[in-house]
Amino acid sequence: MTKKTTRNFRPATQLVHGGTLRSPFGETSEAIFLTQGFVYDSAEAAEARFKGEEPGFIYSRYANPTTDMFEKRMCVLEGAEDARATASGMAAVAAAILCQVRAGDHVLAARALFGSCRYVIETLLPKYGVDFTLIDGSKIENWEQAIRPNTKALFLESPTNPTLEVVDIAKVAAIANSVGAKLIVDNVFATPLFQKPLELGAHIVVYSATKHIDGQGRCLGGVILSDKEWIDENLHDYFRHTGPGLSPFNAWTLLKGLETLPLRVHQQTDSAGKLADFLAEHPNVARVIYPGRADHPQADIIAKQMSGGSTLIAFDLKGGKKAAFAFENALQVILISNNLGDSKSLITHPATTTHKNLSDEGRAEAGITDGMLRLSVGLEDVNDLIEDIEVALKAAG
Ligand SMILES: *Cc1c(COP(=O)(O)O)cnc(C)c1O
Repeated sequence: MTKKTTRNFRPATQLVHGGTLRSPFGETSEAIFLTQGFVYDSAEAAEARFKGEEPGFIYSRYANPTTDMFEKRMCVLEGAEDARATASGMAAVAAAILCQVRAGDHVLAARALFGSCRYVIETLLPKYGVDFTLIDGSKIENWEQAIRPNTKALFLESPTNPTLEVVDIAKVAAIANSVGAKLIVDNVFATPLFQKPLELGAHIVVYSATKHIDGQGRCLGGVILSDKEWIDENLHDYFRHTGPGLSPFNAWTLLKGLETLPLRVHQQTDSAGKLADFLAEHPNVARVIYPGRADHPQADIIAKQMSGGSTLIAFDLKGGKKAAFAFENALQVILISNNLGDSKSLITHPATTTHKNLSDEGRAEAGITDGMLRLSVGLEDVNDLIEDIEVALKAAG
């Protein structure tokens, strides 16, 4: 039984009620259906369900009631027709790309990607005869020049990790359409609240739900959203037969995460804006990159395609690696971790952790300097965060 899912409620309401599937017990909270299989009232009923003539669940690798609630709630939030929830963000990225390509196809992607996304494109695709090109995605002419008649999929992240550059999604979507290719947007950094890639013309959106959607350090998860036709023709069978699906327990955790997503993301973004301004005024800071500030190099694109700033800030300390390490080690509240989107504030030194596998040249190209830190702002009192940063900046000299 579903309720309150058809009307056009505002996002905060949909994130509490959307997709709810109540059992005959009428439970308030979404139930966790920890079952692999389902039983049928008769042989005829089993036959009808397998033929797709009657609705219902068959096997949890295909679909599960708790996972289905998470998928439906994500669809309502994103404005997508259909979705598949996956065990991690990488399972979502890999499935979204692999399910639609074959040998001889070409994939075009922006170079500034999460490391594992680069592995899928640069290392995995060529093993199966799929060609790829990586470009600086911030320049629209690079997409125009690199697109080919056999380009099947385009992939980008915006804002990017860790330098928070943005890509003009509507323009890239138009370039994809010119050859009938599909644009996949990894929307993790923007969150589903601040950027709607499908409305901008993208065909497929992927998330690591591990980040803001859980946002409380509890579980991994991911989701792929698109129109029903693309999912039926490309992802449906791939998903059933390769088994990247999300566990029902994690789906339940993520459903609870969605209920508080707007509260957390708005609060974290509000604090991030204050911290970005504080950092920008400090003499030890060479540069601050924050999508909510007027001095962001692509503020015009941000105004066009994002409705909010970010929970993340990138900043460059004048003293290079030595200063960055001294800064991290002096922090009392903010924790050193490569995760992001969490209720706990987390700091990363990309050059020596998340992006250490890039060559020196690759890092320079990506704008990742030795003094750069990426801060994911949490739910602590912003004044405690400012004081923490103030002390650490002194220690960084
Ligand atoms: C974390 C992340 C992923 C991978 O997600 P997992 O849940 O860790 O597998 C993919 N893309 C971006 C932008 C991410 O931040």
